[in-house]
Amino acid sequence: MYVLYLDESGKDDSWTEHNNFVIGGVAVHEGQVAGLVAALDSVQQEFFPGVDAPLHFHAVDIFKGKDKFRELGPERQTELLKRLYTRIGEQPFPNLTAFATTIDISAVNQSTQVLKVVFEDVITRFNTFMARQHERGHPTKGLVIIDQAHKDKYKAMFREFRVGGTRFGSVNNVVDIPYFAGRKDTRMLQVADLIAYAAFQYFEHQDATFIDLIKEKFNKRSAYGPLDGFKHITNDSGCKCYACNWRQERNTFRQY
Ligand SMILES: [Zn+2]
Repeated sequence: MYVLYLDESGKDDSWTEHNNFVIGGVAVHEGQVAGLVAALDSVQQEFFPGVDAPLHFHAVDIFKGKDKFRELGPERQTELLKRLYTRIGEQPFPNLTAFATTIDISAVNQSTQVLKVVFEDVITRFNTFMARQHERGHPTKGLVIIDQAHKDKYKAMFREFRVGGTRFGSVNNVVDIPYFAGRKDTRMLQVADLIAYAAFQYFEHQDATFIDLIKEKFNKRSAYGPLDGFKHITNDSGCKCYACNWRQERNTFRQY
């Protein structure tokens, strides 16, 4: 079984401060969770030797030097983030594969629909990944775990999917309703937060520092395939971001 841990960056219902909203995370094979947790724990030991109580790696807190992270100073804060992304980037496929869908303000007609559109996109990509695993002789099912702070809005929405399917087909490889856990309780939701944050920094601030360390982890249909798991929903038809670029090339190719 694969577990997809998801988190958000930006706000889906307020567009006064930011131009982007992201849902992102990682799908991890159940047997690989312990190894990834150990990898992140070792980063804590490197930056906070002697601190055994697990520190909550929340990307924006590290970036801004909140609480305990202030002790590090700005340079080491960035180093810590880079180290975390590097550890994530080292995980081999298919043990870990990342997903992130970002919508920008140009594509938002009704802010009430944003969460649904973006969540639906991510879940559909996760479902496609599992369908491909099935085709390769590795049948599997998926479970979705979301930060419990968002519990109510996601639960209502997922129920709708299971009844009606999505716009893109059914999500029948995803079992049951999503589950919810506290971000402080599981390193895996912290990884999801890091993925969403990297995408947000890339689109909101044109800062590729973090996304470049994990780019190859986004779900691909083959080792050299395009980044199916990284999606940009925008009305800018000329966008050259990592997500749009290959899709435009493919469309151009098809015209001929
Ligand atoms: Zn784009």
